[in-house]
Amino acid sequence: MKPTRYLPYLLFILSVIIYLTGFLFSYDYLVKDWQSGNRLDTARSVAEYAVMYASLLLFCALFRRYRYGCVVAYLLLIIVSVNSFISYCCYLVYHSGFNIGMAVSVLDSNIREAGNMIGYYLLPLFISLILLLVNILVVNMLSKIKWSWKLYIATALWFIMPAVFLLKQHWFGYKGGAPMVKNIIYHFKDLEGAYRLNKNMAKITDNKVAYHYQKEDQGTETIILVIGESVRKQNMSLYGYTRTTTPNEDAQQDQMILFSDAHSPGAITNLSIPLFLSPISPQDYSTHIEKVSDNVVNMANSQGYTTYWLTTQNNIKGVTEIATFSKHKKWVNGYDMSLMPFVADALKDKNKKFIVIHVTGSHPDPCLRYPESFRQFRDGSPMDCYDNSIFYTDHLLGELFKKLDGQNAALIYLSDHGLKYSDQKLIHADSKESTRVPFYVWFSNPNLKNHYRFDKNVDQPVSTSYLYPMVMKMLGLKEIKLDKVENDNFMKLDHKVINYKDLNP
Ligand SMILES: [Zn+2]
Repeated sequence: MKPTRYLPYLLFILSVIIYLTGFLFSYDYLVKDWQSGNRLDTARSVAEYAVMYASLLLFCALFRRYRYGCVVAYLLLIIVSVNSFISYCCYLVYHSGFNIGMAVSVLDSNIREAGNMIGYYLLPLFISLILLLVNILVVNMLSKIKWSWKLYIATALWFIMPAVFLLKQHWFGYKGGAPMVKNIIYHFKDLEGAYRLNKNMAKITDNKVAYHYQKEDQGTETIILVIGESVRKQNMSLYGYTRTTTPNEDAQQDQMILFSDAHSPGAITNLSIPLFLSPISPQDYSTHIEKVSDNVVNMANSQGYTTYWLTTQNNIKGVTEIATFSKHKKWVNGYDMSLMPFVADALKDKNKKFIVIHVTGSHPDPCLRYPESFRQFRDGSPMDCYDNSIFYTDHLLGELFKKLDGQNAALIYLSDHGLKYSDQKLIHADSKESTRVPFYVWFSNPNLKNHYRFDKNVDQPVSTSYLYPMVMKMLGLKEIKLDKVENDNFMKLDHKVINYKDLNP
């Protein structure tokens, strides 16, 4: 038996290894999950991608045998190599899994910086060219084998499997995490997102805002705004829930101004966050998104604050654009506590600072939002995972309170929206139940708390759109009245604007 007989198989295995290594570089949380003992998901993902990838190579080998099919085959191989190039850049250039921050930093950096960076891209380029070469050899060799019906079926898996994932997502709801359907060109969605972002971003950043607000005082030196995700206040002991899900916040009640009846202006992230970070009216949201260029971050910049945006979330329309107004921005992959070292760095800044921390909080699936050591509630209740995710966010807030202790500092916490409990599931919906959210300001000392009198009564219903005027006041400006707050406008999922009191219970 000639050794060359094994060559196609060896090259095939080499190709799969290069591809999967790139895949794990891009989704580094899978490696972390594996290390932390949560191996089933990682093993399943790797296996699914290995099968889809092998199927694609067989598909190319089959097409390679035909005159025009050959073009399709080579084109697919080039796309696969480009995809792997991005993956290797994650690890070798950015030292992290893929996230939207890379797209933003590439869009942000000017030509000179790009020139300095070119050297870093050579190794990823080399690896992806090797992959292309290996794949051409593999496909050429495989095209000559004897084709059985089983092989024909195997060639279809790479597009049948994503279709099955898509249907599963459609019928069973997607379980959160990266909102993507697993497919062989896993960076396609990111590239599309970066392209869209680039288009929107220019529109928004080109819209210059001149701030002429009336100055009242020097403002609080350190302001942290924590934007929670899918947090129902109904599940927080701070708001009377029976399980002690928020012990750290409960203990700090005396240092808070707590809004007892707050609701979000929308039931989904990409509507509610831009609506409370900027004075844009809900009526303008669909047609004049460029108006979000007036937002709390931009306003803080105008008042001489150093601004930070630290997040574990991925690209969200209207939110990423606002994030780019921050002087320093960081997208981090992993649990929310992975943000803490970046917060610590930001706090070392001697200047006045405005730090936004946008966490993944209790985003569906909540079971994936905290490490095993935070599995506090395990009675078999359908709320166990969800309550644990609240408990984990409370831990993060507790750590922030400790860090700010003794400084001239305030922390605002609110959630983008809540969720509705229906048929044993927590869902996004246009309802009062799913828009009740935590909303408070915590102060590092009683003097500071006594200094602030906000316009809104803490016991009355209030939209979190009130955040913008509230932040004004904390930056040392006189707060303005916004119609959308006074009229209590709510933007439904279909973008229709109604009065909050007319929303379904
Ligand atoms: Zn959300």
